[in-house]
Formats: sequence, C-alpha cells, structure tokens
Amino acid sequence: MSFSSLIGQDTAIAALKAAINRDAVPQAYLFVGSEGVGKTTAAIEFSKALCCKRPSPDGDPCDSCVNCNRINANEHPDFTRIAPEGDFTRIWQLWSRSGHPTGALETLSFAPVAAPRRIYLLERAETLNDESANSLLKALEEPPRYVNFILCAPSPSAVLPTILSRCQMVRFRQVPAEAIARTVAERKGVSLAEARMLAAYSEGGPGRAIRLADATELRDQRASLLDLAEKIARSPGIAAFRLAEELRNGAKPAKPKKGEDADAGEEKSGRGDLARSLDVLSAWYSDLLAISLRGGDAPLIHEDRRTAIQSAASRYRLEQLTENAETLAKFRRYLTRNANAQLATEALMLKLTPKKV
Ligand SMILES: [Zn+2]
Repeated sequence: MSFSSLIGQDTAIAALKAAINRDAVPQAYLFVGSEGVGKTTAAIEFSKALCCKRPSPDGDPCDSCVNCNRINANEHPDFTRIAPEGDFTRIWQLWSRSGHPTGALETLSFAPVAAPRRIYLLERAETLNDESANSLLKALEEPPRYVNFILCAPSPSAVLPTILSRCQMVRFRQVPAEAIARTVAERKGVSLAEARMLAAYSEGGPGRAIRLADATELRDQRASLLDLAEKIARSPGIAAFRLAEELRNGAKPAKPKKGEDADAGEEKSGRGDLARSLDVLSAWYSDLLAISLRGGDAPLIHEDRRTAIQSAASRYRLEQLTENAETLAKFRRYLTRNANAQLATEALMLKLTPKKV
C-alpha cells in the first residue's frame, strides 16, 4: 500500500505530501469526509510517510522498512490507533482510570522509541464524548514537539469547535461511482456490473464499497430484500401486514465477520439494519424510475434484475414511483429519530404497494 491506493483523493494527498516536503507538518490534523472515503487509509499512509526510513523523493512511504511494516501491522510502539468502544470514545481509553490502566495518551510525554515521531490516530473523533473531548484539548493545544495527532470525522461540525480550532483540516471528497466501481472490480475480482451495484450503495466511499464486496451476509440480505421488493410490486395493499413482517425479518442484523476491517464502524455496530434495508428498497425504486423514464436501455443499479425491474415498473403509475421514492426517504429520516420505527413498517408497505388499477 501507499498513497496511490487511495482513490480520488489527489487534493488531500497533495496537501499532506506538501506539508512533509516543506517540513511544516501541523501537529494536529482533522481529516473530514464521509465513511469509507479513505480517511483512515490516508492517516496510516501519512503516518508511515512521517516515520519511514526510506521515503521516496515524492513523499511516499517505502512500505518495507521496519517502521512501515510495524505501522501496517498496527504494532508500532510510536503509532497508536484509538477507535470508539461501542458508541463512544471514552475517557479511560485516552487516560488511565481505575480499572482501565492503559489509557492510550499516557505515553504522550515519552519520546518516541523507534520512529522520529509519536503519532496518535483517533478514528471516528465524532464519538468523543464531552469528557474525553475536553481532556484531549490540552494535549492538542501544547503537544510535545515529537507528537502528531490525526483525528478523523465525517464533517467539521461533528467535533467540538474547540477541537476543530486546534486542528489543520484536510477534506476528503466523495468519489464518483464509476471510479469506485472500477476499483472494486479490479481489487475484488467481481464483474463490473456487480461492482457498479456495490458502488451505488457506497455513498461515494470506495472503502465502503470494498467492505460491501467482502460482506457475504450483506449480499445475501440484499438479495432477499430485492425478492421482497419484487413481491411488493405484485401484491395488493391488503398484504401490507405480511410484507412488513418480511421487511423486518429481512432487516435482521447480519453476523459480524471475524477479522473485519477495524474501519468498518457503522457496518459493524449493528445499528441501522432497517436503514440499510430501506437503502436497498430506495435503490430498487430508482431502478424502476430509470426504466419508466428512460426506457428499457436505462443503466440500472441492479443490472442482474433487469427483467424483474421492467415487469415491476409496468405495475406502477410514474407518479407513484416518485412518491414511493419520497416515502422511503421520509421514512429513513423518521427512522433516525425514532427507535420504534419498525412498528411503522406496515404503513410503509401500504404506501409502497401498487395503486394502479
Ligand atoms: Zn518505510
């Protein structure tokens, strides 16, 4: 791996390399961008570049010296990754507390032992609770000269303004779906059609698409949800009760996989299983809309289901397809505010079944 393993982040990488080449690396960075766009990968590559014994003239790490290898393996004594425990990054993860003797920042005042720098990577800094965020402030304000912090968060507003003001921000952008699809096809050996579908579900994050390619449970789950979507198109409104039950069953959490990427935050936490199901249904209705508006040759997310999509589209009036897409978006928002939204799935199904006579 090197910086070149990152897709579509040339601006961010150029800024990081320029800082190294000018020997003007800020001691605290905040990498912002949505999940899976490559923030953690960039942070690891950047850490290697800072510690590498034989960096290229261009600023890339060699990826084979002892420092690069140990950072890759997350076994470097001067490189510490901090990820949330459950929903929060808690104070005892940063500073030792009774019962928790291994606060990661307790090493702050020790000079690095094997690398020229001591680096702390805080993944998902948006999960710092007030107590841990406030305790981090002092360290960010006057870090020992050999220390670098790299915080990652989905947006600048996801961290306290006081934290933001102490960090140099680097933005990671969403990557175009086609670029993601090509990368996934190449790295995972899946067909371009399948890679395009994964890209459509990745919200501009190549890392997310690659994790989806690996998550076989999620793929099975998606297949059964698409079966359900086909069934909805063939069912009268009176079947809403049964369909809702199937949706809830289809939304059962997938078992977390062993050895899954530590970066997989949201995928792993199990929250949002119903939300993920709604994403599949939304993608399905955007395919139905594509066929209705652009005809049989329209490019589809679910290319492998083209026949079923054509047949389902013919059962709906165009206006209802638009409405269904809106209904799903509304329900998705409702779900983020209401834990009991599962109960409302029957009303949802009643709305989604065809009204055409
Ligand atoms: Zn190296």
